[in-house]
Amino acid sequence: MAASYKFKLVLFGNAAVGKTSLVERYINNRFEGQYLSTLGYNVYERQIDISESGDYSVTFVIFDIGGQEQFKELRKKYAAGAQAALLVYSITDRDSFENIPNWHSDLKSFTNDAHFIIVGNKVDLEDSRQITKEEGEQLAQMLQADGFFETSAKADIMINEAFYNFAKIILSKTSV
Ligand code: GDP
Ligand code: MG
Repeated sequence: MAASYKFKLVLFGNAAVGKTSLVERYINNRFEGQYLSTLGYNVYERQIDISESGDYSVTFVIFDIGGQEQFKELRKKYAAGAQAALLVYSITDRDSFENIPNWHSDLKSFTNDAHFIIVGNKVDLEDSRQITKEEGEQLAQMLQADGFFETSAKADIMINEAFYNFAKIILSKTSV
């Protein structure tokens, strides 16, 4: 292995957009139908091997904050030192999409320019879609995100791809 990197990753987004579900799918390949709110936060870890341009490994240490995510002071502590973030909305919830610029401002003020991607979750609910893919892409461009992905934690769509590509993008921007 030529080089290994470890990055702290946090998730920002309105309640119920599927942040915990994305992480549970990615780490444990499972999906809980019911709404569970966590006290404090859970920490997960997964290593990603990338061997396209040399051998690298990126480990994401993922902090998933629980039900107190609405408290700004707590989110600030939770985000401290994060190098990577997912800004998550639900494609079925316009409020959650319109709030992404606010989550982005928080990220900017709480971290030292963390890399971030924008994730539109719940694409399995196509019939209830309120945000087009183009709108998501435009917002990602406007906020100069490192990527944009539409996912489903429930149907396991694009989750691995989102994390893998994010890791590659961060590597490409990290001086090796
Ligand atoms: P969080 O508050 O952002 O962490 O959201 P949760 O992960 O707790 O999810 C909120 C609710 O949305 C739960 O009832 C989940 O089962 C549901 N959910 C999460 N992801 C998806 C998804 O991709 N598709 C569908 N249909 N429901 C989802
Ligand atoms: Mg949660």
